[in-house]
Amino acid sequence: MKVMDIFATMEYGPAPEAAAPALAWLKEHQPFGLFINNQWQKPASGHYLESISPANGQVLTRVASANSEDVNAAVAAAHNAFEPWSKTPGHVRARYLYALARHIQKHARILAVLEALDNGKTIRETRDIDIPLVARHFYYHAGWAQLMETELAGYQPVGVIGQIIPWNFPLLMLAWKIAPALAMGNTVVLKPARYTPLSALKFAEIVQEIGLPPGVVNIVTGEAGQVGETLLKHPDVQKIAFTGSTEVGRAIRRTTAGSGKKLSLELGGKSPFIVFDDADLDSVVEGVVDAIWFNQGQVCCAGSRLLVQENIADRLYQKLRARMEKLRVGDSLDKAVDIGAIVSEQQLQEITRLVEQGVAEGAQLWQPSWSCPSEGSFFPPTLFTNVSPAASIAQVEIFGPVLVAMTFRTPAEAVELANNTRYGLAASIWSENINLALDIAPKVKAGSVWINCTNLFDASSGFGGYRESGFGREGGKEGLYEYLRPAWEHAVQDTESQIVQSTFQPSFQEPALEGLIDDAEWPGDSPDLTLPAIDRTPKLFIAGKQVRPDSGYSLPVSHAGHVLGEVGEGNRKDIRNAVEAAHKASAWANGSAHNRAQILYYLAENLSVREEEFARRIVQQTGQTRAQALAEVQTSLSRLFSYAAWTDKFEGVVHRPPLRGVTLALPEAIGVLGIACPDAYPLLGFISLLAPAIAMGNTTIIVPSPRSPLSATDCYQVFETSDLPAGVVNIVTGNREQLSQVLAEHEDVDALWYFGTTEGSQRVEFASTANMKRTWVNYGRVRNWQDRVQGEGQEFLRQATQVKNIWIPYGE
Ligand code: NDP
Repeated sequence: MKVMDIFATMEYGPAPEAAAPALAWLKEHQPFGLFINNQWQKPASGHYLESISPANGQVLTRVASANSEDVNAAVAAAHNAFEPWSKTPGHVRARYLYALARHIQKHARILAVLEALDNGKTIRETRDIDIPLVARHFYYHAGWAQLMETELAGYQPVGVIGQIIPWNFPLLMLAWKIAPALAMGNTVVLKPARYTPLSALKFAEIVQEIGLPPGVVNIVTGEAGQVGETLLKHPDVQKIAFTGSTEVGRAIRRTTAGSGKKLSLELGGKSPFIVFDDADLDSVVEGVVDAIWFNQGQVCCAGSRLLVQENIADRLYQKLRARMEKLRVGDSLDKAVDIGAIVSEQQLQEITRLVEQGVAEGAQLWQPSWSCPSEGSFFPPTLFTNVSPAASIAQVEIFGPVLVAMTFRTPAEAVELANNTRYGLAASIWSENINLALDIAPKVKAGSVWINCTNLFDASSGFGGYRESGFGREGGKEGLYEYLRPAWEHAVQDTESQIVQSTFQPSFQEPALEGLIDDAEWPGDSPDLTLPAIDRTPKLFIAGKQVRPDSGYSLPVSHAGHVLGEVGEGNRKDIRNAVEAAHKASAWANGSAHNRAQILYYLAENLSVREEEFARRIVQQTGQTRAQALAEVQTSLSRLFSYAAWTDKFEGVVHRPPLRGVTLALPEAIGVLGIACPDAYPLLGFISLLAPAIAMGNTTIIVPSPRSPLSATDCYQVFETSDLPAGVVNIVTGNREQLSQVLAEHEDVDALWYFGTTEGSQRVEFASTANMKRTWVNYGRVRNWQDRVQGEGQEFLRQATQVKNIWIPYGE
């Protein structure tokens, strides 16, 4: 072909990237072993898997297929390496991470080619996006390793981390997992996806090259069935970090329930791409290309639902079709290709099936006139219009280059459609009116919101989901806490029941008649024992009202053989009513932090005038001395003050990622939060959980300690006189285990805190998978609520919030 011919047709010529060095490297190493203790080891089974190029179906190499024996060996290596690595000074760890970043840059070319060969994604993307971001992640976390001792004082590494990553961004996901883990002093066993192990194996070679101590990074290739279960259940693995499908994330939550392993899940999405009628439509078109055709649409945060204002929909569709006609699908190593191959034949079949389903359900399909290459796994860019919001293709994650378009009329309708999904990973908002965009951003339930941009990532800005898109963040300072534990936790081994027995031995011999108060301790306030006490049976507290329990039954509350009173026996229906009330009160989160702080102060004020009464109640329920009980009330007041103080100070940060613009990392309320209270410290345990939850804007359903619920029910009048809006705090007394199970299973409860028994913790984690709600449980371990380090502070605020990163580029 001559240059003149090209001018005549304006056809692209081939622009192939040379694969020879990468192929030579593969040949030299094949078959690949498992990377354990910085050595290549043969798999115990002697079994190897083929790694296939999705662009042409050819076998690239063979890699070891690990079994449980191999996983055990890798965990043992990581376990042995943990002690010395966690004690390695932060500066030294920073040097290793810096070296990893440098060597990734040095090997950037071969990594980019391997990734393109193995996954089928385009070389343009691996070279210009994936690998630079990988290096950036290691640089950024080298910084945190350096700063850990001062900036994260009071925290310790978790231990051995099991990491399971998907095939869509193989090396980037590896970096997101390994860099923070190592920076914070943990060691890892990582399982790459079956389809895409090659860049991880090259990374292993880099680990050797920089002389990272053996056992700090271990990489076991193989199939989920062989590797997954052993890694998830291994007693020496203290945390699992997973990225992949919601289905597998759910299974992992169930498998690890009650084990005490930390867990972060980055799961699927069906992210909205919202276009208002004043948006710059040419920019929007390029945005859509990056949102859904980038990486063949195999992106968890792909903008797969195009929500467009009705009056511009046809114009935008027309522009999109014109652009789609010009997109080029083909060999991933061709630098002039926009869309590469789908990762596997199975994945291609799944996309095809869902697209056929979309057509069958009546949506209108549009694909470009050209055909995809016949060899390899390719799928053309696809646009669906006339889609009902309830259609399968509007709800199910297709994970392919398929865009589903719907229209809206008003901003409120756009928000409603955007949130009409089980997921909550990301969203893009397009409008030239920044006021409108910034108004919509907090209303969309998603962990990342891109304004007039899409699919931007940076190590400084955390990434992770709301709802069934998982929990936990990767990147940013918030991502570090996934790899840390408060230092005090290591010291506490007792179970909750032990502490209850040891701390709350009654301090008297003969309980006084009227209750359990030693009158000598209560000068000038002796009750008249000739009169019967006025009966006070607290009801439940739902939607700001005291209501009778649905069951019509009450439960006795007693201590040391004395019945102190009765409380309502709440049931499933009461929880449902409370959840409804909590949802109706959601405006609480949108009010000013100043207002929430005022109400917390007011709660403290109203509690303080009844200090003696509350102390007396604590004595009755626990048998503590008056002095101890008064101290508990005092600490509760101080705690209310602490969270009133934090309300307008836990505000988030502004990141400056490498682009012209800023990212606002805002801690947002999670939503409707269930809380099951501990038995220890009837008032303080209750206040210590309630206060941070509502301070951050959540609305709550609280199950007080079943042993000592009266301190919570005595608060009804305090709530009623403190301007607390109805529904922000709902209290359902009764059997904590049964009620927390109902809360855990409830689809409209967004998070659940449980402070009870070991078994209860397991039950809650297991049952929480219905809507993949975030849980925070104590595994039956104690927390000293009197202690400020254990009983209050940022750990609670982090548990009460989820960080939303709003990306705002600027400049014309
Ligand atoms: P999976 O969730 O099955 O796989 C992700 C990773 O988890 C892989 O390493 C896989 O191993 C491993 N894995 C699978 N099952 C288990 C298990 N029971 N226990 C432990 N580890 C396990 O994703 P798929 O590759 O099957 O893709 C299916 C769908 O998932 C896609 O169509 C897409 O919708 C979604 N997905 C979402 C991703 C995201 O980033 N959110 C990424 C990838 C997929 P192995 O490779 O050996 O099976």
